[in-house]
Amino acid sequence: MYDYIIAGSGLFGAVLAHELRQKHKSVLVVEKRRHIGGNIYSENITGIHVHRYGPHIFHTNSQKVWDYINQFTGFNRFTNTPIANYNGEIYSLPFSMYTFNKMWGVITPEQAKAKIDEQRRESGITEPRNLEEQAISLVGRDIYERLIKGYTEKQWGRPCSELPAFIIKRLPVRFTYDSNYFNALYQGIPLDGYTKIIENMLEGIEVKTGCDYLAERGQLEGLADKVIFTGQIDEYFGYSLGTLEYRTLRFETEVLQDTDNFQGNAIVNYTDSITPYTRCIEHKHFYPGNDTLGTVITREYSSEWQSGDEPYYPVNDAKNNSLYEEYRKMAAEKCPDVIFGGRLGEYKYYDMDQVILRALEVSAQIL
Ligand code: FAD
Ligand code: UDP
Repeated sequence: MYDYIIAGSGLFGAVLAHELRQKHKSVLVVEKRRHIGGNIYSENITGIHVHRYGPHIFHTNSQKVWDYINQFTGFNRFTNTPIANYNGEIYSLPFSMYTFNKMWGVITPEQAKAKIDEQRRESGITEPRNLEEQAISLVGRDIYERLIKGYTEKQWGRPCSELPAFIIKRLPVRFTYDSNYFNALYQGIPLDGYTKIIENMLEGIEVKTGCDYLAERGQLEGLADKVIFTGQIDEYFGYSLGTLEYRTLRFETEVLQDTDNFQGNAIVNYTDSITPYTRCIEHKHFYPGNDTLGTVITREYSSEWQSGDEPYYPVNDAKNNSLYEEYRKMAAEKCPDVIFGGRLGEYKYYDMDQVILRALEVSAQIL
């Protein structure tokens, strides 16, 4: 018998498990996959930490989150400076003076702003209602066409005019020569990889991998008074109100022995619509100065989630958000002893730091 069963050993489940154990609660973590860590899982391939489920850069403005995560790992000083490859032309990301200079030859912030204003006026957009309009009003039509449209439509499988504006607002627009992808006070990659963080959080806690809570609910339910569920909320209820939409990813990883430096950067986004993948990751570059021989790269392909796939991204448009809200109400009414949390349990496009904050909030509430 346990005080809590936690379904899912991703960051949300692991932080809660750790906090509950600190308060002397007994906890069993069950994890559907064969390993712990959820989507932040990293593994060592030929001496290189490989992010198995896509590139993860830890970044936060929260001192509380930074202090918290530093209990479990040290970080290097990696700063994310991805580049965009549009039909063989290279642009700096996020949208900064480097990007504007390459696109239009402008030198000063004033010139860049004038160019964007001109394109915004030509488009006639005053109140952006979707991602396309938001992007054009932030950076103009040229950047939208070359650096946003193709990438976004591959990533989300929907026209930019049907996507919510908030997705593009994740990216900074800067009128300085600064190509740091994040406006974050703290940023880095864990020195010993992400999996080590989760191992440290779960130290001394019983964990069963290869165990699907929903498949074994009959036996597991009786083992604890409370359940924390970090999988899909719609799956928990047998999709009874309908299926929420997600994007799934396919990762194609290659170990290259014939080069030590394949693309000269950790992340290259392919922003045209022809290249079938969205981005290519060269993992060794997450550790600047890494002189391991050979290299490991991963190409990332995005498609619509179907039952049996891993759900990586919630599609937080109005239709899905309102269906999620129905599930949330159902959960509150029918299962007061189950807490739904994390990216899938709350159907939210959370970054790692937001997941930690949310898990700390939930643990404070339940304790
Ligand atoms: P998850 O990591 O999805 O964990 C949920 C766990 O529950 C999984 O292990 C799953 O197998 C398990 N599970 C599901 N159903 C069941 C069940 N029925 N029984 C048992 N176990 C179950 N964030 C950043 O801050 N920076 C980044 O650079 C960044 N890059 C990202 C890149 C990609 C491609 C993706 C997909 C996400 C990225 N994120 C990034 C977000 C980050 O991955 C999430 O914020 C974080 O991993 C969410 O943790 P979680 O515990 O909520 O979910
Ligand atoms: N985006 C884009 N071009 C790029 C990079 C990002 O249009 O080169 C858009 C795209 O819609 C993406 C969103 O910005 O989904 C957010 O990007 P972010 O890098 O935050 O995505 P994530 O790492 O979460 O996949």
